[in-house]
Amino acid sequence: MKPETKALRVGKLPTDEKSHNTPIFLTSSFTFDSAEHAAAVFAGEEAGNVYSRFTNPTVRAFEERLAALEGGERCVAFASGMAAITALPITFLSAGDHLVCARQVFGSIPAVLNGFIAKFGIEITFIDGTDISAWENAVQDNTKMFFLETPSNPLGAVIDIRAVADVAAKHDDIIFAVDNCFASPALQQPLSLGADLVVHSATKYIDGQGRCIGGAVVGRDELMSELFRYVRTAGACMSPFNAWIFISGLATLHLRMREHCSNALRIATWLNEHEQVKSVYYAGLPTHEQHQLAAAQTNNQFGAVLSFELHATAEQTRQFINATTLISKTANLGDAKSTITQPFSTTHRRLSDEDKVLAGITEGLIRLSVGLEHRQDLLDDLTQGFAAIK
Ligand SMILES: *Cc1c(COP(=O)(O)O)cnc(C)c1O
Repeated sequence: MKPETKALRVGKLPTDEKSHNTPIFLTSSFTFDSAEHAAAVFAGEEAGNVYSRFTNPTVRAFEERLAALEGGERCVAFASGMAAITALPITFLSAGDHLVCARQVFGSIPAVLNGFIAKFGIEITFIDGTDISAWENAVQDNTKMFFLETPSNPLGAVIDIRAVADVAAKHDDIIFAVDNCFASPALQQPLSLGADLVVHSATKYIDGQGRCIGGAVVGRDELMSELFRYVRTAGACMSPFNAWIFISGLATLHLRMREHCSNALRIATWLNEHEQVKSVYYAGLPTHEQHQLAAAQTNNQFGAVLSFELHATAEQTRQFINATTLISKTANLGDAKSTITQPFSTTHRRLSDEDKVLAGITEGLIRLSVGLEHRQDLLDDLTQGFAAIK
C-alpha cells in the first residue's frame, strides 16, 4: 500500500459490529472468561487486554497506523509529546550516562533535561545540531543518546539526519532519536535515514485541528518493548479518546500536509519580497542555506511553520500581530487554522538574553504556523499587520 492508503486503512479494529469507522473503546479495564483465563493473560501466555494503562484497542489502532507511516516495527503512544520525550532518557539511560542534544529543539526539552533528568546523574551537552563535526566532538566514552529535531522551531534549521546517524553508528550503544513533529511522516521518515527512534507530538499535525494532546515513539521491537514496559508501569499513556481523534487525523495527513506546505511556500515567497521584512526563515525558499538538504531528506516539501524578521522593535512587532484579525494569536502550531506569535515574548521568553541571541530569537521575529485558509485571505491579513507598524 502507498502511504496515503496506509493512513486510511491500517489499524482497523476487528469487532463483531461491522462498524465502518474505528470504534472507540472508552474503558479502563477488560474482563476475562474465567479465573484461569485471567491468570493466562496476566502471565502473558495468552494475548488479551487487561487495563488501559497497559493496552487499549483504540490506542493500539493508532499505534499501528503511525508505525506503518513511519516505516517502523512498533509504536508506543504517550499522553503528550513531552511525556514521550521524557520517557527516552528515563528508559534508556542510567546515572553516569551522557546525552547529546541539538540546541535547536522545542523549548520544553532543555527545561525537562536540565531541570529533571540531570538530577539523576545524566550528563547533557547541547550543540549546534546543524554542525556535523559538533556531534562527533561531543561524543564521550559514556555517550548513550543523540536527540534532534528537524526542521526546527522557530527558525526552521535543517539537520542532516543521515550524517548524524553515521556519527552515531561509529560508536557502540548510541541510540539516535529524531523529533519528526514539524515534518510529520507525510514528508520525512527518519528511520529510513538511519535514526533508531522517531518521536512525535501528535498534538500538532497528526491531530491537525488543535483538539487533543498526545505523543508517540516509533522504532524497532527491541527498543520499543523497553519503552512499553516503562509506559505501562509509569502510566503516561494515551487516552483512548485522544487516540480515536488521532486515527482520523492521520487519515487526512498527506492531503493536509500538501496544502499546508504549498500555502506556506506561497507566503514565504511573498514575505521574502516584502520591503519591511529583513529575513525569512523557511527551508522551502531556494535561497535558504539548507534548501538542497531539506529537499533531499523530505519529499521536497518543507513544512508549514515559518519565521520572519521585521525591521521593527518589540513594540512594533506586537503592533503587527495585533493588527491581524484572521490569524489566531496563539503559540500552538500544526493546526488547520493559521497561528501567529512573537517567540521573543512567548515561547522563548524564558531564555537568557545570551541564549536568545544564540537561538536567533530577536525582538522583530514572528512565527507563523500556516494553516489551510485560502492563501489570499492570509496575505490580506498579513498586509494589515504591515500597515499597522508605526
Ligand atoms: C509541541 C512539541 C513538542 C511537545 O509536545 P506536547 O504534545 O506539547 O507535549 C515536542 N516537540 C516539538 C517539535 C513540538 O512542536
